[in-house]
Amino acid sequence: MSTSTPTWFITGASSGFGLAYAQYALSKGYNVVATARATEKLQSLQAEGDRRLLVAELDVTRTGAAEQAVTAAIAKFGGIDVLINNAGYAIVGALEETPETEIRALMETNFFGAMAVTRAVLPHMREKARGAIVNISSMGGQMSFAGVGAYSATKFALEGYSEALAQEVASFGIRVLIVEPGAFRTSLVSQGERFMPSHDAYREALAGVRKVMRDMDGTQAGDPLKAAAAIDIALASENMPLRLQLGDDAIDAVRQHAQRLLDDLEIWKDVGSNTRLDAGD
Ligand code: NDP
Repeated sequence: MSTSTPTWFITGASSGFGLAYAQYALSKGYNVVATARATEKLQSLQAEGDRRLLVAELDVTRTGAAEQAVTAAIAKFGGIDVLINNAGYAIVGALEETPETEIRALMETNFFGAMAVTRAVLPHMREKARGAIVNISSMGGQMSFAGVGAYSATKFALEGYSEALAQEVASFGIRVLIVEPGAFRTSLVSQGERFMPSHDAYREALAGVRKVMRDMDGTQAGDPLKAAAAIDIALASENMPLRLQLGDDAIDAVRQHAQRLLDDLEIWKDVGSNTRLDAGD
């Protein structure tokens, strides 16, 4: 990170995490490029903002929109130090309950949207030989369960590409941070979650998960402002991790999942290993 005032560029800043990242960064004296599909939703920020705030329209699925917003950011602040790919939403439903068009649309926002903004920002970060790309995944980007397969698929995709990107851009002085939050108090459940129509065959099996996902609204333990501070701590570290879990629920779930992976690997390694061509074949 440079010693000059850092500039954070945030997608999906109209609510929840994105708004909190913008509020946090402004409170720290950073420059903020707060982007949203509907910039009128950023009025509360504009009220507290000053010349360190640039509001820009950005629907991450709209072709050319990322380049426009990034150009405006560079014109105002001269560079972007931290890109937070935050815009996203969720689907709840089994595969058979979820039309392919819904899954493709989700992928457009959660995965291709983040890639498009990253693609627009990278040349500027390379030019300055510094920067950080923060991709907001989820604990659902490491593990999944019945009813959230489509959402997890987008976050697994985001994580796979982030892991490769981290290696591709390291020599340019650019770092990549994957963030895996658990349940945080945002508008995701009330506004950003699409429940697919229930199919008889899955009604009973998914009733529990549908109820948990609905009832979670307003009860999530995580504080988005504290998430912003945690991300900032990771960014300031010389030993920044590739993945940062946020919230005890995410830490426990990812730990358990990693342990299951190791346990299965140990139990099945002889079967898997015994697949080499025999000498002479
Ligand atoms: P919110 O619903 O509060 O915020 C989502 C934001 O994404 C909104 O600002 C929304 O804008 C924006 N958005 C959606 N589609 C687009 C698009 N095409 N272009 C630009 N912006 C878009 O939920 P969260 O704050 O919780 O979600 C933010 C991120 O955090 C998401 O990626 C989500 O997957 C992730 N996450 C959230 C968790 C949680 O518990 N809250 C847990 C794990 C991950 P608009 O106002 O225009 O709809």
